[in-house]
Amino acid sequence: MEQTLAIIKPDAVERNLIGQILERIESRGFRIVAMKRALLTLAQAEAFYHVHKERPFFGELTQYMCSGPVVLLTLERENAIAAWRELMGATNPQEAAEGTIRKDFAINLEKNSAHGSDAPDTAAFEIPFFFNKLEIQG
Ligand code: GDP
Repeated sequence: MEQTLAIIKPDAVERNLIGQILERIESRGFRIVAMKRALLTLAQAEAFYHVHKERPFFGELTQYMCSGPVVLLTLERENAIAAWRELMGATNPQEAAEGTIRKDFAINLEKNSAHGSDAPDTAAFEIPFFFNKLEIQG
């Protein structure tokens, strides 16, 4: 079993898409082992996305991520990291496959509705960034 960090981003929370996204997660065999709603501070968004700090879109991305509430999730499944990224679809919704969350819900490249860890070492940083051990119950 593998765990990954998922975020339902502000654009999706704002449009009342939490339920539809959770339904897709559960029906694809993920267990939601931790979940909470939060309004990130700019400092938290900057620390979470520190790997992107040299990118030209870092300022826009971090401001967007604290522009409204998000839903933070830890998902568990076999091959969870790759399976969640497949269910989300490509970063740019115009390139996302049919039936993916980003294809169906994303507004644009930035407001793309969902986040997922991209590798085991990323998940190992991202999950404890938001959840302590007591909050994760399999
Ligand atoms: P991900 O792993 O699929 O989320 O993609 P990346 O790690 O490459 O980028 C992180 C997030 O930054 C994306 O999910 C988008 O929300 C945002 N992003 C990526 N590229 C751009 C861009 O060119 N401009 C802006 N404003 N945001 C971007």
